[in-house]
Amino acid sequence: MAAVKDVLRNVRTEVAGRRRKCYRHPKKHIISKGEVCLVVKDGPQKQSTYCLVCARDILDVALQRVEALSAVISEVDE
Ligand SMILES: [Zn+2]
Repeated sequence: MAAVKDVLRNVRTEVAGRRRKCYRHPKKHIISKGEVCLVVKDGPQKQSTYCLVCARDILDVALQRVEALSAVISEVDE
């Protein structure tokens, strides 16, 4: 059987190896060296890094999307 597709493979957490800026609020949100951050791969040469506050917002939206999709599938599947 084929492996189950991982649709979130462009999203991962990282520990910042150096000081980074948050992509959503680059002037306000600083990610310090050693802090956990969320990294989203936007394309072959492009990725965005987010601080913990913005990561929480992003994951909350993603979770709502997954729950909505899952609800539709469950409805049809019964
Ligand atoms: Zn941020």
